[in-house]
Amino acid sequence: MASVNILLVDDNQENLLALEALLESPDHKLITARSGEAALRCLLDQDFAVILLDVRMPTMDGFETATLIRGRERSRHTPIIFLTGFESNTVNLFKGYSLGAVDYLVKPVVPEVLKAKVAVFVELFRKNQDLQHQLERIRELKQDVKVHKRINEERRILLAREQAARAEAEQAVRQRDEFLSVAAHELKTPVTSLRGFAQTILRQMNRTNSIDPERVKHALEAIDQQSNKLSLLVSQLLDISRIEAGQLRLDKQPTDVTGLVRNIADIMRPGMTLHTFRLNTPDSISTLADPLRLEQVVTNLIDNAIKYSPDGGPVQIDIWLDEEDLACIAVTDCGIGVPVEHRDHIFDRFYRAHAASHFGGMGLGLHISKQIVQLHDGILEAEFPLEGGSRFIIRLPHLEEDQ
Ligand code: ADP
Repeated sequence: MASVNILLVDDNQENLLALEALLESPDHKLITARSGEAALRCLLDQDFAVILLDVRMPTMDGFETATLIRGRERSRHTPIIFLTGFESNTVNLFKGYSLGAVDYLVKPVVPEVLKAKVAVFVELFRKNQDLQHQLERIRELKQDVKVHKRINEERRILLAREQAARAEAEQAVRQRDEFLSVAAHELKTPVTSLRGFAQTILRQMNRTNSIDPERVKHALEAIDQQSNKLSLLVSQLLDISRIEAGQLRLDKQPTDVTGLVRNIADIMRPGMTLHTFRLNTPDSISTLADPLRLEQVVTNLIDNAIKYSPDGGPVQIDIWLDEEDLACIAVTDCGIGVPVEHRDHIFDRFYRAHAASHFGGMGLGLHISKQIVQLHDGILEAEFPLEGGSRFIIRLPHLEEDQ
C-alpha cells in the first residue's frame, strides 16, 4: 500500500519535534516544514492526508499559508488542522474555518485528541485511495470490455468476410465444373455429327463401291456447317481464356460500321431460310474499331436473333448516331425474348436464360461480346420491347470524318 504522508508546519523546531514524537507511527510518514513557504514547496509534488499548521509564524502566517494551499488544485481539498495558542480569539477561529480549516486545536494539544483526529484523517485518506484504485480498476475493466467487444466485432466481420469469400470461391468452382460439362457436351455434338456424316459416306462407298454425288454433296455441306460450329465454339473458349488473362488485344482502325454490317448481312442472307433481314442504315458512320472483333460481336447478335426466334421472322438492323454522338448498331428480333428474372444476368459468364437442351450454346457469346465492346470504350445493352422479342444495342465512340 502507498505510504500516507502528514505535513507538520511550525516555525518552532521544538514544537515540531514534540509533534513528531507524538505522532510517530509505522502507519504514516511525517514530513516537517519550518515555514509556510517550505510547506508550500512540500505540497508541490506530494499529497498529504492532513496538514497540521501553526497559525503564528513569522513572514507568512498560518492563515496566509492556508489561503495559498487552498488556491492550488492539488491541495484544494487537503484537510488542515490549525494549531493555535491560548491567545487566539474567536475572530481568528472563524477566520481559520472560513479558510477551509477542518479543525482547530489549542496548544498545548491533548495528545490523545490530536492522535485520534489525525487517525481519522489517515483512515479517510486510505479509504479515498482505495476508492480511487477501485474507480481506476472499474475504468480499466470498462476499457477491457470495450476492447473485447471491438475484438469480437472485428472477429465477426472477418468471419463473415471469410465465409462470403469461401462461398464465392465454391460458387466459382461449381460454375466452372458445370461449364466444363456444358462445353464438353457442346463440343461433342458437332464432332458426333461430323463422324456420322463421314461414316455414312464411307459405308455407302464400301457397299456399292460408288458414290452418290447428291448424298456426298449433302454430307459435305453438313460437315462444313458442323465444322464451322465446332470452330466457333473453340474460338469462344480461346477468347474467354484470353479475356480472363487480360490478353484480348484489339487492332483498331477507322471502320465504317454501315459497310461492315451490310457485308455481314450479305454473307449470312443466303444461309437464312426462315428469317429475313431488314436494314435501316445511313450511308456510312465511322468508328475506331477492330473490324474483325466488331464483326464477331455483330455476327453473334445476329446468330442469337436467329437462334432465339425459332419460328422465323424479320431480324431488324438499325444504325444511327444517337444524341450523345455515339455510333449505334441495334439488332432486333421478334423471338422468344428473355424472362424478366433472367434479364440482369444474360451478360454473365456461362449464363443461359433458356433450357440448353432446346438451343445449345455455352453462355459465352454475350459475355465475350460485352468485353469486346467495352475494350472499344463502348456499351452493349439489351432491351426487351413490350410486344416481345429482344433488342441488343452496341454504342461506340463516333469517329468524325476529319479525325
Ligand atoms: P449462348 O451461346 O448460350 O446463346 P450467349 O452468351 O450468346 O450464349 O447468350 C446468353 C443467353 O442469353 C442465352 O443462353 C439466351 O438464353 C439469352 N439470349 C441471348 N440472345 C438472345 C435473344 N436474341 N433472344 C432471347 N434470348 C437471348
